[in-house]
Amino acid sequence: MDSISSRIQEVTPSLTLAVTNQAKAMLARGEEVYGLAGGEPEVDTPEHIKAAAIVALQEGKTKYTASGGIPELRDALAAKFIADNNLAYDPKQICVTAGAKMACFNAILAVVEEGDEVIIPTPYWVSYPEMVKIAGGKPVLVETQESNGWKMTAEQFEAAMTPATKMVILNTPSNPTGAVYTEKELREIGEVALSEDIIILSDEIYEKLVYGDNKHVSIASLSQELYDLTITVNGFSKAYSMTGWRLGYTAAPKPLAEAIDKIQNHTVSNATTFGQYAAIAALQGDQTFISDLRDEYDVKRQFMFQRLKSIHNIRVVEPKGAFYFFIYTGQLGLKSMNLTDKLLSRYKVAAVPGVAFGYDDGIRMSYCTTLDVLNEGLTRFEQFCREH
Ligand code: PLP
Repeated sequence: MDSISSRIQEVTPSLTLAVTNQAKAMLARGEEVYGLAGGEPEVDTPEHIKAAAIVALQEGKTKYTASGGIPELRDALAAKFIADNNLAYDPKQICVTAGAKMACFNAILAVVEEGDEVIIPTPYWVSYPEMVKIAGGKPVLVETQESNGWKMTAEQFEAAMTPATKMVILNTPSNPTGAVYTEKELREIGEVALSEDIIILSDEIYEKLVYGDNKHVSIASLSQELYDLTITVNGFSKAYSMTGWRLGYTAAPKPLAEAIDKIQNHTVSNATTFGQYAAIAALQGDQTFISDLRDEYDVKRQFMFQRLKSIHNIRVVEPKGAFYFFIYTGQLGLKSMNLTDKLLSRYKVAAVPGVAFGYDDGIRMSYCTTLDVLNEGLTRFEQFCREH
């Protein structure tokens, strides 16, 4: 249709949302579905966080706030950055927004101009390339290797750079692969970014879900020079099981923070006011919810890893963070969309096709579900692999 802008015509709808919606519709019709496609913790938001939102509502915290968020929340976030990430941000450098998704979008819109190239390691989180396209930029995809734990090397990054490169997007821990970059790897990538002043968008939404001896490192904390180039994105969705609250944030050097605030001024205005009060309760309340969630996911991760390793015709690498497995399915000889369609319609298992993440020889399965669902879903997936 002529009236749709060419930028939006280029954009692909979110396949992850499409698959989860299809599975939800099947469930609503009373069909059995083993949902391994999800991207959110299955447990509810902790009670003390919900209670804080209720109190805020009762106290009339129902009006606009400063576009970057209420000062108390930005103060609490500045304290969080020091405690968790060894990063000193003035509260004014932090902008609270409607989910980490919008935080990523604001960051991209603030930096990317028509024709600018943005380097994105593949498999990538589904929305990055589409956001870049909406901003008028050009996604440059760097295919990572399973043998390297699905991580982009500094050499690959350097080879993909051109004079038009404006930004690189890093996501650690990663959705969909669960890869966690080490400090050494981030330093090497950082060196390359510094050589040409490439802005780094560091999406750290899964920072609290890192397992075993692995450690989350914020690239901005590695040097003043990297701090000056980095927009750090984070949010409440995954750590506090607050996906529906739509609460995320950016932290950036001052000029970039001001640019992001301008976008926020003229778009969303502010994140929901009573939600911001709940976010303070999340940050300042008991954090055992997070460690319990992590422990529980670690059990499921190990269970799933053992099961997947024993299935013929597929390959997996151990994910170090987040709550996903990215499974190499190239040997099954099916396009990922075809594979997940069959898996859902015939075996009642929902998974996300790798094509959604720019990698057609794989699928994503998540373990943010009950052990029972996981167990049955994997049994059916094993049967599917045997029969194909
Ligand atoms: N970044 C990554 C890597 C994600 O996986 C997600 C959600 O799935 C987001 C950002 C968006 O998070 P939010 O729900 O806070 O918008």
